[in-house]
Amino acid sequence: MSSDLSTEEMTLPGKERSPVHSWLMDMDGVLVHEQHMIPGADRFLSLLRERELPFLVLTNNSLFTRRDLSARLKTIGLDVPETAIWTSALATAQFLANQRPGGSAFVIGEVGLTTALHAAGYTLTEQDPDYVVVGETRTYSFSRITQAIRHIVEGARFIATNPDPSGPSTEGPLPATGSLAALISSASGVSPYYVGKPNPLMMRTALNTINAHSESTAMIGDSMKTDIVSGLEAGLETILVLTGVTSADDVDRFTYRPSRIVKSIADVIPDLEASRAEVKPDARSGRRRERR
Ligand SMILES: [Mg+2]
Repeated sequence: MSSDLSTEEMTLPGKERSPVHSWLMDMDGVLVHEQHMIPGADRFLSLLRERELPFLVLTNNSLFTRRDLSARLKTIGLDVPETAIWTSALATAQFLANQRPGGSAFVIGEVGLTTALHAAGYTLTEQDPDYVVVGETRTYSFSRITQAIRHIVEGARFIATNPDPSGPSTEGPLPATGSLAALISSASGVSPYYVGKPNPLMMRTALNTINAHSESTAMIGDSMKTDIVSGLEAGLETILVLTGVTSADDVDRFTYRPSRIVKSIADVIPDLEASRAEVKPDARSGRRRERR
C-alpha cells in the first residue's frame, strides 16, 4: 500500500492538472536567441492568436518599454503585440502602485522603467523618495549611485527590478541590475527587494494581467534558476526548453524539476494544435469521469 501511494504521489501532479488554457513564456532562450528567432517560435505565437488563448511574453529585462520590445521582436519575424509583453519593470511598477499608491521614486534605470512607473501613477523625484528603484541601465553614473545610497541610508525603501547579475551580448557578458544592486546594497547595508524572476510575484502579476488561473496556465522557460522555479512556486505547469541557459545535464542538479523538458518551443506546438479539440468537447458535454 505504501509503495502504491508513493507511485501515486509522483504521478498525481501531472494527472490532476487542468488542460492548459493560458501561456506564459520567457523571451530570451525560448523565442529569441542572440537576436535570432528560435525556429518554431513564430508558429507557436500564431497558433496562440488563432486559438485566442491568453498569453504573455515575459522578460526580466527592464531596459525597454513593451512597445520597444514588440518592435524589436517584429524585426526578427515575431509578431507579439505590446499588450502581450510583460517586463520586470511593469511588474515592479504594479507592485509599487499596489503597495503605496501615488508614491515617489528615485530611479536608476532607463525608459522601460521610468515609463512603467509614470503609467502606474508614480512621481519620479530626486528628493526624499518613498523608494529607490534600480533597474537595468547602460549609463552608470557615480553621482546617481551615490544619491541612491544616501536616500536608502536616510530611509528610502530599496527595490530592484530583477536580480540577474549579468546579461548576454555577442561580445560577452554585460553587468546587469543584480550587480548594480549589489554595489548599492554593499555601500548602504540594505538589501533590495527584487520583483522580477525568480520572485513568483512576476508570474502572479502576469497571471492577473491576462485574467488567467495558475492551475490552467503553463510557463515555458529556458532557465531552471528563474523561469522554472518561479513558475513552480506560482503553481503553474512548467516546461523547460533546452535552447537557452540550461542543458539537459544540468537539470538533475536542481532540487526541483520542471513538469516537462522539451528540446525547443517547436516541441510545444502540438499542445496548441490539440487544444482546439480539447476545449470544445469539454465545453459542450461537460463530460467528466466521475466516480462514486
Ligand atoms: Mg531566458
